[in-house]
Amino acid sequence: MTEHYDLLVLGGGSGGIATANRAAAHGARCALIEKGPLGGACVNVGCVPKKLFWNAAHMYQCAQTARDYGFAPLLGDFDWAAHKRARDTYIARLNSRYGAGLADNGVTVIAGHGRFVDPRTIEVDGGRYQADHIVVATGSRPLVPEVPGAACGLTSDDFFALAARPRKVAVVGAGYIAVELASLLRALGSEVSLVMRGVHLLATFDPMLREGLTDALTTAGINLLPQRHVAGIDRAGDDTLSLRYKDGETLCGLDTVLWAVGRIPNTDALGLDKVGITPADNGIIATDPFQNTAVPGLYAIGDLTGRAALTPVAIAAGRRLADRLFGGQPDRRLDYDLIPTVVFSHPPIGSVGLTEPEARDRHGPDAVKVYRTRFAPMTQAFSKEPHRTAMKLVTVGREERVVGLHIIGEAADEMLQGFAVAIKMGATKKDLDDTLAIHPTSAEELVTMR
Ligand code: NDP
Repeated sequence: MTEHYDLLVLGGGSGGIATANRAAAHGARCALIEKGPLGGACVNVGCVPKKLFWNAAHMYQCAQTARDYGFAPLLGDFDWAAHKRARDTYIARLNSRYGAGLADNGVTVIAGHGRFVDPRTIEVDGGRYQADHIVVATGSRPLVPEVPGAACGLTSDDFFALAARPRKVAVVGAGYIAVELASLLRALGSEVSLVMRGVHLLATFDPMLREGLTDALTTAGINLLPQRHVAGIDRAGDDTLSLRYKDGETLCGLDTVLWAVGRIPNTDALGLDKVGITPADNGIIATDPFQNTAVPGLYAIGDLTGRAALTPVAIAAGRRLADRLFGGQPDRRLDYDLIPTVVFSHPPIGSVGLTEPEARDRHGPDAVKVYRTRFAPMTQAFSKEPHRTAMKLVTVGREERVVGLHIIGEAADEMLQGFAVAIKMGATKKDLDDTLAIHPTSAEELVTMR
């Protein structure tokens, strides 16, 4: 017998769960299909475990600063295994909390791998489920380059399963995951090389952020290796690994190689050929601004749409889609402009809107005015070599509308959110000037720039 629902959601990550819960709140009869633990990449092998590691590294750094404030040495060694046990327990708690939330909302959870039979029907382990509306929210997985020995390297998924701290690591890549893993590993005591194929890390970010992070990672002791094209990984007789570059050079004596070279959508084993959807070569499913695919009644949200691959984006797109389909809000959709984002490096980066070069390209060089500041935050008052914070406001036009804000430094991650609200509302430089500073903070610099 085939069970029928108003909505089927394929994929129980952050986006899929949010879509099902919102649709159920509107009274829709919903089921969600997931083959792994609930919560997807973000909860299980992404944002959540990464942030717990980031917190650990941050605490270590605070303990170092505490010495300058008069404390005796505060911390012993980092117990990786104890941290992993606590982390696994916390994530298991989140998995069951998601399950309980779905159950409370009346969403049926179907465990197993779902595959389309036709545009209204999905099969899971021999059972068939139909719906008037189906949302594909199966996310993405780490990409592994096709080079000899690639399987000797680990992905970010494998990283979170490591039972002990790697001693000597090469992280290949220069995007979000590469800089986050490289900097937390270094802060926790590993010897780290960051192997980049280009000249810059975080190539799409404002140059001030790239340069600031390059300096900070170098000062932290990370070995930055630009313009290295990896040809393969070799395992030596003593079981160590070496990275081989295309020019024949090698990086030897590694115990761990981490691939952080991007992610690929999970769209290849869903039977999409049965419904007339052909993903692009990079696995992306095309959607219009309302998350519609080319097939009526089929929608896609999250990483596999190829738009900002961020958890809050998937959640927001899914909730708006549910509001549109079941909440009587026919125009509801996500505005993909001005998405704030944080890179949890050490120090963290917060960024929203246009970079300075993007603003000059889009609005013309004369229309853009930029405000910058660089300072040592007050927590560093007693440090001989203080960490610096840098901020940049990118404004456009005579009214100096803020179209970009970029911060690198302590608490950048927490500072950005409120300012992102103001920028989304169309704040001008004068609006910031008219806002009273909170003293003494780092954030006050954002309303006192000259
Ligand atoms: P990114 O797209 O951020 O970066 C991919 C990196 O891999 C780039 O630096 C790219 O180099 C490099 N690269 C690609 N192919 C190769 C190759 N063959 N050899 C060497 N380097 C290569 O991907 P990530 O995997 O880091 O993250 C995926 C997405 O997940 C992010 O885009 C982000 O949306 C999301 N994410 C968000 C986080 C957050 O919000 N804090 C944290 C982690 C992930 P080049 O620059 O030269 O192209």
